Amino acid sequence: MAVTRTFSIIKPDATRRNLTGAVTKMLEEAGLRVVASKRIQMTKEQAEGFYAVHKERPFFGELVDFMISGPVVVQVLEGEDAVKRNRDVMGATNPADAAEGTIRKAFAESIEANSVHGSDSDENAKIEIAFFFDESEIVG
Ligand code: ADP
Ligand code: MG
Repeated sequence: MAVTRTFSIIKPDATRRNLTGAVTKMLEEAGLRVVASKRIQMTKEQAEGFYAVHKERPFFGELVDFMISGPVVVQVLEGEDAVKRNRDVMGATNPADAAEGTIRKAFAESIEANSVHGSDSDENAKIEIAFFFDESEIVG
């Protein structure tokens, strides 16, 4: 299987509870390597742009407000089949449906404040990585 990259966000509910290390540990234990990482305060424009695919969904405004409610940690993760590997360790969007051993089962507060974002395809991973990182910031 090929080594690929995916994009991850540790969301404000997790940074607020000082879970950056705990979440990252679960990512690493799942076979992912952090090859870029920075803690940022997203602007409203950045959050709206990042989640533009969801702009027709009823929760869009609340999601944007949540994502700018505190710092986030944006990361590039590398590993074999990284997109799927990350989605597997993240768990289901709604923590009530998330399997044991997943990040969302362990840490998510709600379907919105669910601790992590992860790209859903290789194509979107490339777009999302480029949204936050220059290639020179990624060191594998
Ligand atoms: P995922 O993050 O698992 O890929 P989606 O892409 O469907 O899930 O949704 C993006 C984000 O929007 C979710 O991670 C969550 O923060 C938020 N969200 C999704 N569904 C809801 C909902 N029904 N109510 C509030 N927020 C939601
Ligand atoms: Mg998604």
